Amino acid sequence: MPLLEISNVVVRYGAVTAVQDFSGSVHDGDIVVVLGPNGAGKTSLLRSVVGLAPKAGGRVVFDGADVTNWRTHRISRAGIALVPEGRRIFSPLSVEDNLLIGAYARTSKRDKSQLLSDIFDRFPVLAERRHRQAGLLSGGEQQMLAFGRALMSSPKLMMMDEPSMGLAPVAVDIVMSTVQSIAASGIAVLMVEQNAAMAQELATSAIVMERGEIIESAASGKISTGVGTLSGFVDLDIPDEPARR
Ligand code: ATP
Repeated sequence: MPLLEISNVVVRYGAVTAVQDFSGSVHDGDIVVVLGPNGAGKTSLLRSVVGLAPKAGGRVVFDGADVTNWRTHRISRAGIALVPEGRRIFSPLSVEDNLLIGAYARTSKRDKSQLLSDIFDRFPVLAERRHRQAGLLSGGEQQMLAFGRALMSSPKLMMMDEPSMGLAPVAVDIVMSTVQSIAASGIAVLMVEQNAAMAQELATSAIVMERGEIIESAASGKISTGVGTLSGFVDLDIPDEPARR
């Protein structure tokens, strides 16, 4: 049974259909990457899974429960964490306070400090800067903070929205290895990316969206057959301009 099963999800904003009849699944151990141009509906898809974008149809089952109509905080408690596009850290707050926000659902102080120390072990750079204002971190460090904040909710699934966006190549490499280590620690990953090369490197399977619909997908067996298969995606003609309806 998949950890996350999305069936026929539709997202509409008034007359705009952002996601049309999307179906896909994520199993334990997966890194599923969703590729596509600006405006393809990738962000809307992730947000709809956690109840932040309105679903006009379809069903979402997570860890055996039908969460289609659950509120966001309940979905988060069930084990899905979203690392949003643009990181959305709280710039005036310290690194530590940003991390603690991710553990808002925990009541015990002991739980929180244990989680915090786990994050600091995982990201030593955050430990060094724990009292620094988050807005003063570099882009790469802010992305680590966004990952750390999501990990504070002890998720089973992490959804990441373009974690490499706007980062220098060296920071992109760090993000990639962080995603790999998160997956290796037993957390399934559903990641939106525009960087097809990064997706090719990481993905156990990939889905390409355009104008709200799936236009291509490949499973892990295919991808692992070598340079050839997923690079088909790299060759896809992904337009730069948003496709609007
Ligand atoms: P990007 O890479 O630019 O984030 P995306 O693939 O994530 O693009 P979405 O942001 O999901 O795509 O947008 C899909 C479509 O839905 C676009 O046409 C966009 O303009 C529209 N859209 C997204 N959010 C809203 C909103 N809150 N209200 C109205 N339309 C929206």
